[in-house]
Amino acid sequence: MTTSKHGKNSLYLHPKQADFQVDDLPAFIHALQSIGLIAQKIDTQKNTAHYFTGKKYLDYIAYMGCAPSIQFETSEKNENFCFIKIHRLPEPQLIHSQKQARAPHCPHCNKPVKNWLDKKTTSGIHCDSCDNTSSIENFNWRKMAGYAQLFIEITDIFPKEAIPQASLLDKLAGINDVEWLYFYHCQ
Ligand SMILES: [Zn+2]
Repeated sequence: MTTSKHGKNSLYLHPKQADFQVDDLPAFIHALQSIGLIAQKIDTQKNTAHYFTGKKYLDYIAYMGCAPSIQFETSEKNENFCFIKIHRLPEPQLIHSQKQARAPHCPHCNKPVKNWLDKKTTSGIHCDSCDNTSSIENFNWRKMAGYAQLFIEITDIFPKEAIPQASLLDKLAGINDVEWLYFYHCQ
């Protein structure tokens, strides 16, 4: 089995400001625990920022459909379970799905940029429709990608299966006074 840093199907939350980073990670973790999004660390022996979901998790993340069977505890049988990872990167990175890589919309002309992966440089994407090159963070990624250097990943969520509520986005905004966005990722 190949292990990846990112889950198969996940919901990601990230600050809108691409270069935003928390200086004090333990304080940020503590704040996420205080609002009840995350609980304790999963494996205290390992140097990974993986956490169980907190007691207010289901108030913050609304699952669509009837009675989803969400697995919150890990077991030997079930390797797909819902937990939370914190990704803190040295510089902004675009995280996008391999399978459902939707064309982002150009901030100038609002047209979808097809084959955007071929037109991407480290920080910009060229739009053939209007011949402008814009920064990655200014494109509309239509909730299928995100550009940031801090991500909160919630594993085992399929695209649009669960939606972060305004209460969560407000609480996150309150921690560091930055606006948060979300997107879905599937490998
Ligand atoms: Zn354009």
